[in-house]
Amino acid sequence: MAASRSARRVLVVLAVALLLPSLTAPAQARQPSAHRDPGNGAERNTVAATGAPARALAAVAGENRRSGGQEGYPRQTRLRVFPEDPGDKAIKLGLLPYHALAPKLNALQQRSDRVSAEVIGQTTQGRDLYLVTVTAPESPAQARQQDRWRELIENNPVAAARDPRLARQYKAPVWINANIHGDEWEGTDGAMRVIADLATTTDPDEIGLLRRTRIHVTVTNNPDGRVAGTRANGAGFDVNRDHITSSQPESRAVRDVLIDTQPLVMLDEHGYTGTTLIEPATPPHGQNYEYDLYIKHAYANALGMEKAIGELGHPETTRADIPFRDYAPGDWDDWPPIFTPMYAVYHGAVGHTVEVPLRVNRGEYTGQPVEELRRRSAVNTDVAAATITAGVAYTDAHRRELIADQIELFRRGWAGEPQRDIPDGYVPGFGEEDRYQVEFPRAYVIPAGTAQRSAPAAARLVDHLVANDVRVRRAEHPFRLAGRTYPAGSYVVDMHQPKRGLANVILADGKDISADVPQMYDISGWSHRLLWGASVDISHAEAPTVRTTPVVAASPTGAVSGPAGHPLALTLTDGKDVQAVNALLAEGVPLSRRSDGTVVVPAVARRQAIELAQRYGVRFTRAPAGGPGTPLHGPVVAAAASADELAVLRELGFTVHPVSTQALNDGFSLDGIDVLYVSSGLNHGQLTPDAKSRLAEFLTRGGVVTRGSTGAAFNAATGLLPVTAVAGRGDANGVVTVTNGAGPVGAGSPGHTFVYSPLWFTDLGAGVSAEQRYAAKDPLVAGHWLPSAGGNGPAQAAGEAAVVSGVADAGARTVLFGTEPLFRAHPKGLFAQVARALYWSTVR
Ligand SMILES: [Zn+2]
Repeated sequence: MAASRSARRVLVVLAVALLLPSLTAPAQARQPSAHRDPGNGAERNTVAATGAPARALAAVAGENRRSGGQEGYPRQTRLRVFPEDPGDKAIKLGLLPYHALAPKLNALQQRSDRVSAEVIGQTTQGRDLYLVTVTAPESPAQARQQDRWRELIENNPVAAARDPRLARQYKAPVWINANIHGDEWEGTDGAMRVIADLATTTDPDEIGLLRRTRIHVTVTNNPDGRVAGTRANGAGFDVNRDHITSSQPESRAVRDVLIDTQPLVMLDEHGYTGTTLIEPATPPHGQNYEYDLYIKHAYANALGMEKAIGELGHPETTRADIPFRDYAPGDWDDWPPIFTPMYAVYHGAVGHTVEVPLRVNRGEYTGQPVEELRRRSAVNTDVAAATITAGVAYTDAHRRELIADQIELFRRGWAGEPQRDIPDGYVPGFGEEDRYQVEFPRAYVIPAGTAQRSAPAAARLVDHLVANDVRVRRAEHPFRLAGRTYPAGSYVVDMHQPKRGLANVILADGKDISADVPQMYDISGWSHRLLWGASVDISHAEAPTVRTTPVVAASPTGAVSGPAGHPLALTLTDGKDVQAVNALLAEGVPLSRRSDGTVVVPAVARRQAIELAQRYGVRFTRAPAGGPGTPLHGPVVAAAASADELAVLRELGFTVHPVSTQALNDGFSLDGIDVLYVSSGLNHGQLTPDAKSRLAEFLTRGGVVTRGSTGAAFNAATGLLPVTAVAGRGDANGVVTVTNGAGPVGAGSPGHTFVYSPLWFTDLGAGVSAEQRYAAKDPLVAGHWLPSAGGNGPAQAAGEAAVVSGVADAGARTVLFGTEPLFRAHPKGLFAQVARALYWSTVR
């Protein structure tokens, strides 16, 4: 029924074309590139991260000091004030610089008992993240009652649905997130305006609203980016791609806000799409949603926000693009849980991305006159404020129904009921192309004992699930489930639980949606079960009957076994193992590596091993008999890499110096470097003759590890390994099945990996080994990977080498990755592959 979608698009396009001939919206609707801003563009492979170490920013005045009476509202914190920064990029736009926020919020808190500010975290550069709550004052007893009701909704929805006082008196939580992309500023300014207005209003309707509503506002979710004028945060990560990875303090902070406040509705304020954009999104829709409960409110709320911006009176804000209504499938989808509003849906919120219209960043920021920029930012601020006000008004007007629907969401989870079939026209335009569903399994089991591939990986996954408010339980006794036997201490995720959608979106394999839509906005495949390194079993029908206890934190996994006075062994299976090895090397412990990859630790280092086993949860065992192996050195790495890769390499404990074409041309010395990592921003053809000759000298003694097309081009230009690199479609991505070779990188790797712009290697010359190959048949498990014009779909990659190694004629030990083992710091179970490549290619 694509007809219904195109029909509604054609109507809109016609209406706009007739009424507003000067606007370009119709063309945008057909040309995705006009508004697509996926954030994983070519720059990830062309710009090397400089990785300046984080400098902790000191506040100039005061410390964050909470006043008394913390249990009710207001619960105010006198915020510390940061130094005035005349370089703050918001200033040119006439918007609030970061340093102005704390003084303004302090003043508002002094003036109004409806405003509470709290500090919910710090950025990598040391700036405070603020949560502001606007609501009518509550006594501690009243606030406790609100907390009890919120918990009742999630934990006993049947009782919550029957509680008439709850229906009358539960204050509707709304969450506004602003400025998660640092160079999309005005959400902050619009939110601050709404906060200030509500703080001092004497309008009885607005005062009444605040008695029925708690408005929670993270006024800037990316202060480092706001000041610097960058989309990414201070560590170079796109925070709005980090949900369900939670690698960044900014995403962890708002995750906790979401869990603690359980909003009915949330808005994530962005920019700049030309025409204001308000979700709901196009298909494919996340298949783990209770989509019926979401779309009826999301669509109606979007229409209300569109009306509100239309009433602003600006010629640029007469209408909005609502992707669900106006765009083609795949053009602006809500499939992956990496975006804040999509992630919020799994916590019970009706989530919307809002994009304010008029571009003021990038080329416009430097190219437009200041007056024009400020005019645009003023319009954008009006749009942000209007959508926030309208979203809050919708919540208040539909408070009882929204509460009932959130209760229903959690009730279905506890009851294990199937998702609802949604009829055509359920909301205008809903049709076959909008139907995405799953059959939830009955339980997942994360085994303890020998069935577990990696104990630290299992513990990390359990802690991650718990941090995401997924219920995990620990078996007190051995048990059988779905034909398998599990030891006591195994973890059970019973899918009869309130946030089963979130549990499933984290643990399920996902789906190959290549045939469903022509393209996708961002990633289409992920799976903690397949990519995070732990063994996770699925029980489709059978419920566990063993006695279990709730898990607050995973059990410690670290251990040192084997007799004292005997060498110990560690296998580099997980990033945690790598961290332990690098920590031992940093302490000067002499390590060696056997040909099977086992790292041998001398008996004298037992004390350090015990300490590191506790710190990282890794397991040292008695070293098997055999030769000492070859000495293992901690490589000094020069990396022309993207920011996410740089961050992971450092987290693993490697010494990494950022490098790039420019740095080499400026005289970067390769003396003392053991391995060159190349994936982004190093182009051999652009090197000066001097840089080329230093590099050629390096390649006679140093190792090389590369990733992706930039790395493959470097390999070809330097003539290292004789292979032909073949590239799949640039936006193809997902989880693929692989077979591993017995070499230093492939041996012991998981049976799945992640690809983005997949690459493979053919015509393997003499001395080149395939460390890993795409599965011989149907390698794509989950994601979106269509053949490009010349083919190069999954069928062509099948059976081909995904990772290769060899020793170049010049001497360099070289590993080429066609996969994405470090992508956005997400696939934790793959990190050790890169570490093993770095150790292997280091020769001293
Ligand atoms: Zn954005």
